[in-house]
Amino acid sequence: MQTNIHPDLVGKDKIAEAEEILRSCVHCGFCMATCPTYQLLGDELDGPRGRIYLVKNLLETNSMDDQSATHLDRCLTCRSCETTCPSGVRYGRLLDIARDLMVTRVRRPLRIEVLSRLLRWTVPHPRVFGALLRLGQLVRPVLPMFIAGKVPLRQTSVALNDLPNGSADKTVILLQGCVQRAATPGVNEAIQSLLQASGCAVEYLTEEGCCGGLDYHLSDHETGVRRMQTLVDQLYPRLDSVEAIVSSASGCGVTIKEYPEILDSSYADRAAAIVDKVVDISELLDQESFTCRPIRVAVHTPCTLQHGQQIDGVIEQILARAGCEIVPSNEGHLCCGSAGTYSVLQPKLAERLRDRKLGSLLREEPEVIVTANVGCQLHLQSGTGTPVMHWTELLARQL
Ligand code: SF4
Ligand code: SF4
Repeated sequence: MQTNIHPDLVGKDKIAEAEEILRSCVHCGFCMATCPTYQLLGDELDGPRGRIYLVKNLLETNSMDDQSATHLDRCLTCRSCETTCPSGVRYGRLLDIARDLMVTRVRRPLRIEVLSRLLRWTVPHPRVFGALLRLGQLVRPVLPMFIAGKVPLRQTSVALNDLPNGSADKTVILLQGCVQRAATPGVNEAIQSLLQASGCAVEYLTEEGCCGGLDYHLSDHETGVRRMQTLVDQLYPRLDSVEAIVSSASGCGVTIKEYPEILDSSYADRAAAIVDKVVDISELLDQESFTCRPIRVAVHTPCTLQHGQQIDGVIEQILARAGCEIVPSNEGHLCCGSAGTYSVLQPKLAERLRDRKLGSLLREEPEVIVTANVGCQLHLQSGTGTPVMHWTELLARQL
């Protein structure tokens, strides 16, 4: 796609990269069929091809009207379109660059501005977020229904299976994640017990920082990059003494795996060395054997795992090997509507996507739904009484 870059943008940071991505799109439209927002809204501009045209227009005019911004804001950044695209268009990266430009060219509705700031001030700080979450859980019974639905129930400590500790022949760092640590602490306990049973000694970072994904995807690139650099500074000195760095929330995992693309040359080499050792927990446990009662399970693979990290079908294999019955569901490629902060910023669309996803996951009446990212877990759970949990809990918990 030929783009005539506006003279004021020529030579600016990341513009050449955006132009190169635009050039790789051949307008075939294959991506439209797998785009959740296009499926829901049926407007070309709410699908990847239309949004790519909007970004092209932004680069050519150095401006954007409110309506175009709305179409781009409705994008989940689920990257289903990337998995479908035969030309390898890096749509997610293009959107990140566009959103950075939009910050100074578009005035967002006040509601979005306020919510974005609140999210950035609270979520990446586990102590603040944890305290607010506990407060919300305390007053949940008296909150209006539409707010109470957004506050997850307090996760009580769960009894873990008595998994034998394997003799530790390797050491790993387990990343705990900001939201997961506060909202579903049982997940990290479950993962630790599975790792120990698989012969891993588990270590943690003393003051684990946020991966930077939340700020970065909410268009505060400066803060996002600063958080990324801090995590690189924490992890790099430990690299030689560990076999792997384990991420269990796929949203954090995909962000860290993209550090070399995002960080500048002063951090790129260290970031690449870290990424060489970063694995999703499903990659690490792929060859391990566990046992589970023959429970009927529906699996929701988060977009950040299947489209972002290109890991698909592994959870099903591990669970089936353990004795679970995996029930089929259709539209597995579609986003559940959680998408990081999307369920807060675009609640109506997120709810429609969640209900569509739950309809497909619950079709065969599973006893439990499992997923691999805390955001999907909480968002799906807000729409069903069927338990939704991280897949590792199914193997580690006494059910
Ligand atoms: S992004 Fe890919 S699939 Fe979509 S129109 Fe462009 S080339 Fe075709
Ligand atoms: S990232 Fe997802 S919502 Fe956005 S254009 Fe691609 S498929 Fe559609």
